[in-house]
Amino acid sequence: MDQDQLRHMLAALVAEHKALDPAYSYSRFGADLARMIGRKEPYKKQYIANVLKGVKGYPVSGELADGLQRLGAVQDGMDEFQAGLRQLPAGVQSMTPLHPNSVIMGASRLCAKPGCGLWFVPNSPSRRYCPRCRPPRHT
Ligand SMILES: [Zn+2]
Repeated sequence: MDQDQLRHMLAALVAEHKALDPAYSYSRFGADLARMIGRKEPYKKQYIANVLKGVKGYPVSGELADGLQRLGAVQDGMDEFQAGLRQLPAGVQSMTPLHPNSVIMGASRLCAKPGCGLWFVPNSPSRRYCPRCRPPRHT
């Protein structure tokens, strides 16, 4: 989607929320958007207003576009947990069989060995090296 389409989507979502609740504000919208993408700071109402107006220097960022898509999905009836999930990027591989509807809870990290360059989802919070550099111990 280009910037105009995203701005149009933003305006439509705000309008739909306002139709359901006349007290709905840019502040609440900014908070809802931020929550959808796990952002700690809510978007400020002025920021939302500037993005909507297409003010120079206020593009619909990738992050904001992501939040819009998720909020739109919730509006269309998807539950918030489901809408908050991310699709796996291409090239993700697993060392174990994964059920088709699995949810991976851990964040990926870069292997600590210089030059390795492999990203992995650690099986423990203290793990710093990928399974290629330090194979997991089996008991
Ligand atoms: Zn490694």
